[in-house]
Amino acid sequence: MTPASTGLSGTTGTTAAQASTLRLDRDAPIYVAGHRGLVGSAIWRRLTNDGFQNLIGLSSSELDLKDRQATFDFFAEAKPTTVILAAAKVGGILGNSQYPVDFLSENLRIQVNVMDAALEQRVSRLLFLGSSCIYPKMAPQPIREEYLLTGHLEPTNDAYAIAKIAGILHVQSVRRQYGLPWISAMPTNLYGPGDNFSATGSHVLPGLIRRYHEAKRTGATEVTNWGSGSPRREFLHVDDMADACLHLLENYDGPEQVNIGTGTDVSIKELATMVANAVGYSGQVKWDTTKPDGTPRKLLDVSKLEAAGWKARIPLHEGIASTVDWFLQHHSEIRT
Ligand code: GDP
Repeated sequence: MTPASTGLSGTTGTTAAQASTLRLDRDAPIYVAGHRGLVGSAIWRRLTNDGFQNLIGLSSSELDLKDRQATFDFFAEAKPTTVILAAAKVGGILGNSQYPVDFLSENLRIQVNVMDAALEQRVSRLLFLGSSCIYPKMAPQPIREEYLLTGHLEPTNDAYAIAKIAGILHVQSVRRQYGLPWISAMPTNLYGPGDNFSATGSHVLPGLIRRYHEAKRTGATEVTNWGSGSPRREFLHVDDMADACLHLLENYDGPEQVNIGTGTDVSIKELATMVANAVGYSGQVKWDTTKPDGTPRKLLDVSKLEAAGWKARIPLHEGIASTVDWFLQHHSEIRT
């Protein structure tokens, strides 16, 4: 395969003629790494709904992707033709700032092992998933893909971000050196069914659902959220994210990572009010400013994704309502 045929010669991505060749075979073996997580499970649901017959998923007890030999052995046997790399150690602002070694080391090992093993088997299509925290803390808003590596990272999640930036470079390097049409996508803050609702290790949206639910259940008249409430964040439902991933796999082929988001954001205070309404909590809300705010604003520019023909569909208030329903139904079995 020549570099030109993979879209490597330009940074804008695929032409219509190239896109028609990107359609995935619904019967081919497709490996979803991390299929039990928030991201991987949503992608698994989306692919299943779309008629994919031969999805491969292994739990971390069946295959530890940090184990290089085990990962290579698995790829040699399963021979997937497409890989979706959604396996990662993820966490909210507190987990990231308290355990940076784990976020750096585990993510680097997982992605290097998977991509090296996929390369050895010449996997023809690979989608690497990262996050919007790869961009500089003070990036102009909304954040365009080309702002990558133009400034300092947010210190509360720089270890995770560096691992993900290495992954983007890994994908670009495989394209350059081997001509394989691998791609990267960077979703904004995600939420939805299957999320981590831990009191301290989760992201803000599931964290608030849990806190407000507990307050309502115990009759508490006051809750305390983290930070000042003034940072702004963009929230995308995982089902929208999964839809965007399938769309990109079938319509995009370029070296530059593609942002996945909604194009709109809210303040954490506004988000907290939406969650309180959805849960039915009506007590006092306090803010603990000894906890970090993180980056002041993180809104992705999604014009590249829209130019590839995709737009988010699930409004935030609907997504929060359905996630609260899911939380209530799965309360006993969720990760807390
Ligand atoms: P970030 O986007 O990487 O900063 O990740 P988070 O989702 O963890 O945090 C987003 C913002 O929500 C930060 O400003 C936090 O201080 C704020 N926040 C408020 N309450 C909570 C909470 O209960 N959990 C988390 N994770 N963040 C909270």
